[in-house]
Amino acid sequence: MTEALPDFALARPATVDEVMAALQGAPGAALLAGGTDMMVRIRKGLAAPGTVIDLSGIGELDGIERSEAGLRIGAGVTLDRIEDTAEIARDYPALARAAATVAGPSHRTVATLGGNLCLDTRCVYYNQSHWWRQSHDFCLKYKGDTCHVAPQGNRCRAAFSGDLAPALMVHDAALEIAGPEGRRRVNLSDFYVEDGAAHLALGPQEIVVAVHLPGGGRVSDYRKIRVRQAVDFPLAGVAVARDDSGDGVRLLVAVTGTNSRPLMIEPIELPPGAAADEAVFAALDKRVQKAVSPQRTTLIAPHYRRLSAAALAVRMARELL
Ligand SMILES: Cc1cc2nc3c(=O)[nH]c(=O)nc-3n(C[C@H](O)[C@H](O)[C@H](O)COP(=O)(O)OP(=O)(O)OC[C@H]3O[C@@H](n4cnc5c(N)ncnc54)[C@H](O)[C@@H]3O)c2cc1C
Ligand code: SF4
Repeated sequence: MTEALPDFALARPATVDEVMAALQGAPGAALLAGGTDMMVRIRKGLAAPGTVIDLSGIGELDGIERSEAGLRIGAGVTLDRIEDTAEIARDYPALARAAATVAGPSHRTVATLGGNLCLDTRCVYYNQSHWWRQSHDFCLKYKGDTCHVAPQGNRCRAAFSGDLAPALMVHDAALEIAGPEGRRRVNLSDFYVEDGAAHLALGPQEIVVAVHLPGGGRVSDYRKIRVRQAVDFPLAGVAVARDDSGDGVRLLVAVTGTNSRPLMIEPIELPPGAAADEAVFAALDKRVQKAVSPQRTTLIAPHYRRLSAAALAVRMARELL
């Protein structure tokens, strides 16, 4: 069965103010950046916007700027640019590495930072064609009333599977958001909610304008496991960063792919002069396993994803500490 695109009106604003006006004039409109996720959802009948607002012509979303406070990366910056910017690779290595693991190379020439951070959650019962979902009576996340993953519950458990969020979180990133009331900032780790059907703390008339990163100085890394090594979402993705700015050492760890939101793990703290020993790595393994909560949202067993998240964290911690 073909999945033809339905009709919709297309708005092409040139400024953030014009986006605000377009959103006000067309409630329920969908934002489109690179379109690598949104167009797939529209084609599969997972979104049916009357109006699509194309963000690709807005100059303000497209810059990477250094200031005394750190780095500001526009939401419309493409992932290949993040991967190839030497300053990002030097000061925020986990971010460059995470960008390089998203989908395939041609895909990354259009996929954007904002689209990656606002990516819809995913589930094996949801990311299917309309007729497949219809034959399963749809599900709680869209058009149905039962969750096929946890039928006794009343909450969607679909997993957030964007690669960039944890890499930014271990570098204390904040989002600049524009809305009808003006601009606001929010820490990236506060932007996500543990609900697969409504996982973003973003108002219906708000957009992400940019990501702000404080000055560099943290060594960091990102790794993920996936079914197809060439092109695939993370079954579990982990970012780690070593913070030497205070007394002793702090290891910051964030995980994606296992919950409806990317999440920070309680950091590992080493007092001044202390070395990381096996007890430290065992504690990290335990913390990650306890914090994550993978569900049957992929064809790969939740327990394997839990163990993998912990193993990736420990593997990188051994290299960084
Ligand atoms: C085959 C395939 C493989 C993929 N593999 C991966 C992968 O390995 N890792 C991964 O992380 N992703 C993957 N993706 C998903 C997606 O391609 C990327 O996450 C990409 O970065 C999304 O960016 P985009 O600009 O194309 O977003 P779009 O599709 O344009 O938008 C995605 C969502 O973000 C919203 N949005 C976009 N910009 C803004 C903004 N500025 N403010 C508020 N909301 C906004 C849109 O409304 C939409 O809901 C894959 C997709 C495909 C089709
Ligand atoms: S977790 Fe449940 S409600 Fe959410 S998409 Fe999957 S089946 Fe649907």
